[in-house]
Amino acid sequence: MNFEAFFEEKLGGLREAGNYRVFAELERQVGSCSRATRYRPDGSTQDVTVWCSNDYLGMGQNPIVTGAMKDAIDRCGAGAGGTRNISGTNHHHVLLERELADLHGKEDALIFTSGYVSNWAALGTLGAKIPGLIIYSDALNHASMIEGIRYARCEKRVFKHNDPEDLRRLMALDDPAAPKLVAFESVYSMDGDIGPIEALCDVADEFGAMTYLDEVHAVGMYGPRGGGIAEREGLMDRLTVIEGTLGKAIGVMGGYIAGSRALCDFVRSFASGFIFTTSIPPALAAAATASIRHLKVSQLERRRHQDNVAKVRAALDAHGIPHMPNPSHIVPVMVGNASKCKWISDVLMENHGIYVQPINYPTVPVKTERLRITPTPMHTDGDIAQLAGALSELWSQCALARAVA
Ligand code: PMP
Repeated sequence: MNFEAFFEEKLGGLREAGNYRVFAELERQVGSCSRATRYRPDGSTQDVTVWCSNDYLGMGQNPIVTGAMKDAIDRCGAGAGGTRNISGTNHHHVLLERELADLHGKEDALIFTSGYVSNWAALGTLGAKIPGLIIYSDALNHASMIEGIRYARCEKRVFKHNDPEDLRRLMALDDPAAPKLVAFESVYSMDGDIGPIEALCDVADEFGAMTYLDEVHAVGMYGPRGGGIAEREGLMDRLTVIEGTLGKAIGVMGGYIAGSRALCDFVRSFASGFIFTTSIPPALAAAATASIRHLKVSQLERRRHQDNVAKVRAALDAHGIPHMPNPSHIVPVMVGNASKCKWISDVLMENHGIYVQPINYPTVPVKTERLRITPTPMHTDGDIAQLAGALSELWSQCALARAVA
């Protein structure tokens, strides 16, 4: 086989379909999650305002977090030096797990290399190691959950997105004696809608099922201590497992699950994605701990963030730019056409110094192509006015329909 020709042909297919991914090469500017230097392919640079970062609260640039990271590097060096089992468990990992267990009101927590790995490893292990387990998965669950369930090779049922009635219908069809787990998210990343956690837990309880909640887009952002939507709604004790990331609002990198001591010990003892990989650098763990501790007591970042989300929505409304209404911080500006979406993103970058990545199929359905805007506490009123004004200009140039107020 001519492997090179094969790779090129497959990549050509992606290009033709408009699904070939091109990265924006950025250097984030210290002190702000909304400013960056962009490196063009020809080596020239441009200052840009970033409107699509998942460092939602700017904690990745917060001196409390960067200071904790620097201190830990000075004390422990750069890397963990091993897997958790073989010399790679640092005091900072243990402190972080305690902090996370406390954040979610659980007995224990377990950290992984990323949120992706935590979903994959935890669901993969539960599905593979609990004999006869059936996993009920929301239709819009993230790829990492889907891959974990696939890897487990257990029975899987997909219920309609955010639909407890459909979940009940499917659960009632199965053997009442079969062990069951229901997996869903709180804030869904592309539409920014929020799952009906309580109603899904009610159905799960009827069938004696475990519940597994991905709070990746909510941790740090919602709830009085940043424990997520489950904390805000007083539902943490209804969830068997709460999964999250350290890479978004916490501002660093890594993922975790929080649950009972026995469940965490079980995953720790059987998950290959936990056991056979180098643990995260102690400095990452120290930075994440500092970030979580800060967000447990400070409301400032959450308040400023929510204010800016409201301001962005109002500015878009004033220009008639259609955006998906939802109760979260994610502002999907709906273009509904793949090539126009990409064109608007390119012109925003080149002519206006505004960076928003286009979101096209297969990440979202065809004709719902969008610009997924994520305001941060660090965007200024001037940034917001500039974004809305530029979008308005490009909306006219593309002859796109305006929203009616
Ligand atoms: N779950 C959801 C819902 C996500 O959107 C993502 C990543 N965007 C992940 C898990 C994976 O998290 P991480 O980026 O930490 O790997």
